[in-house]
Order: sequence, then structure tokens, then C-alpha cells
Amino acid sequence: MPSDPVIPLVGIGTDVHAFEEGRALWLAGLHWPGEVGLAGHSDADVAAHALCDALLSAAGLGDLGSVFGTADPAWAQASGVSLLSHAAQLVREAGFAIGNASVQVIGNRPRVGTRRQEAQDLLSAAMGAPVRVSGTTTDGLGLTGRGEGIAAIAVAAILPLSRPA
Ligand code: MG
Repeated sequence: MPSDPVIPLVGIGTDVHAFEEGRALWLAGLHWPGEVGLAGHSDADVAAHALCDALLSAAGLGDLGSVFGTADPAWAQASGVSLLSHAAQLVREAGFAIGNASVQVIGNRPRVGTRRQEAQDLLSAAMGAPVRVSGTTTDGLGLTGRGEGIAAIAVAAILPLSRPA
């Protein structure tokens, strides 16, 4: 009798942070010299945060707020990349293999495509599976179109390594 197929599980995550003059910009794991940074307790890396939420959602582990706690001083200063590494570790410990993830950065600038390979290499190393990075704009509409901040949306696919008895 053929065994049941292993069905991938997907998760989705989004994040938005507002620009804040005087802060360094961290986006998709990279520092972007000369760009206006994003406000937040952490490095405010919307791409890394969206990826974390996608991973945690796929595994049914909750979300960034419930796992790391935005008020928890232990995580308040953590980089988005280190959160991504830890989220991936939690997903694996919960019995899943990570297939891949994709994140789309939404905003007027910077154009992530100019450093796509660098970002993909860094985020993939942090997550331990392939991460793809893309970017788009919103034709001048909405908070990102007005240049108020940067948004990101991510999906992740994971595979259960064992089924409940
Ligand atoms: Mg965030």
C-alpha cells in the first residue's frame, strides 16, 4: 500500500516599519549606507522579520511577538538575521525541514535588486535553506508609495519530517 504523500506546509508573514532620520538602514540582512533607516526597537529589518513570521506560521509556532516578545530585552537588540536563524532552529526542533522562502520588499528605495545576490546569500545562510529576494513599488500609493516606510511580505514552505501516530 503506498504511503501518504508528505504535504508541504506554507506560512506567510508581513512587516512594516516607518523611516526614521538618523538611523542606519538594515534591510534583507544588509546595511545600506546613505539610506534613511527604519524605526523600531530592533534593527527593524522588515524582510528578515517577515521571513521569521512566515517560518513560524508554517510550523504553527505563533509569530514574532509571541515567540520573541517585542518587549523582551533579550531580543530587543537582536538583529533580524539572528532572529531568522533562531526561528529556523525552532522550526527544525519542532520536527520540520525547511524547503525554501521568498520575500518581497515593497518600497520606493532602496532597490533591493541591486544587491539581490548578496541578500539572498546572507539570508539563506541564516535560515539554512534557499531564500529569494525581490522588490516592488506601489505606483506612489499607500504608505510605501508616499515614502513613509518599507514593507515586506514573505512566504515559507516547510515539510513535516514525521507524522503523528
Ligand atoms: Mg518588524
